[in-house]
Amino acid sequence: DFPRASRRACPDIHVSFEFFPPATEAMEATLWESISRLAPLGPTFVSVTYGAGGSTRERTHATVARIVKETSVKPAAHLTCVNAARDEIDAIVRGYWDAGVRHIVALRGDPQQGQVPGATAKFCPHPAGYPNSTALVAGIKEIADFEISVSAYPERHPESPSVDADIDVLQAKIDAGASRAITQFFFENECYLRYVDKVRARGIDIPIVPGIVPVQSFKQTANFAKRAGATVPQWLADRFEGLDDDPQTRRLVAATVAAEQVLDLVDHGIREFHFYTMNRADLVYAICHLLGLRPKLEQKAA
Ligand code: FAD
Repeated sequence: DFPRASRRACPDIHVSFEFFPPATEAMEATLWESISRLAPLGPTFVSVTYGAGGSTRERTHATVARIVKETSVKPAAHLTCVNAARDEIDAIVRGYWDAGVRHIVALRGDPQQGQVPGATAKFCPHPAGYPNSTALVAGIKEIADFEISVSAYPERHPESPSVDADIDVLQAKIDAGASRAITQFFFENECYLRYVDKVRARGIDIPIVPGIVPVQSFKQTANFAKRAGATVPQWLADRFEGLDDDPQTRRLVAATVAAEQVLDLVDHGIREFHFYTMNRADLVYAICHLLGLRPKLEQKAA
């Protein structure tokens, strides 16, 4: 059975990149450096998140609009149901369509952090808003024929009673018009592969794209993971042990860990990956290089 799939150049690898809207000029410069570096790799799309509580509405829109204007990559705008009436959300959706955006990542969203540090406030639908992600997907489809991606949770959503209940929700989102799911990040590939088997056994055939997070900072990732309900295995903690003040080694270890994860998924037949870039290009670029992706000339020129 040699060579392994990950050692061959796989012509059918597809990637997408996720960014968050920058809050300062310095962050904006970093973001655009990263987009310029990653765009020539020919991603299927690049997505821009929508801050918790809907806090980045204008910045998300501005970032997506600039991607449309200045690059040849296809943008996807994240959108949530939080803190807004249906009319306001519908106006944002129409604004995206008018700006030439054709892909939305539709989510329920989370409220902003509660009063207790570290505690996540409970989602409470806006009285005149969309009650959940399924309703949002249906609402967007009523406005225009957007391509719609939604979330999926291999380790179940923290508020969900079970993975099966989450798959019911996934099915409802697909029935409403979603055509791709992007997973919450995970570190144990077994967990993702088992989840995909369960989803397929239910007759769901849309792409379930693994969300990959390169560990830029172990502490920060562990914090995100806690809130997202993603397990941080002890072996991962062990790999980053003692590296808090050693950024150079930490980056090499981070690249190794992410490459190991992605190449193992390739060996399991996975060909599509969504990278949570944290607005930094270097680790993701290196992993894409290992996946066999090379900059495309026409995109370089653009
Ligand atoms: P959903 O699929 O809507 O599920 C959320 C919970 O509600 C689950 O427990 C589910 O079982 C339950 N549920 C859903 N529908 C129903 C229903 N009809 N009846 C009863 N229960 C229901 N957050 C942001 O704020 N901004 C972002 O840009 C953002 N991007 C993300 C991108 C990805 C790929 C992922 C995986 C997550 C992202 N999130 C983002 C986080 C997400 O908003 C939170 O995880 C949120 O808590 C759930 O929203 P959802 O759409 O992912 O979940």
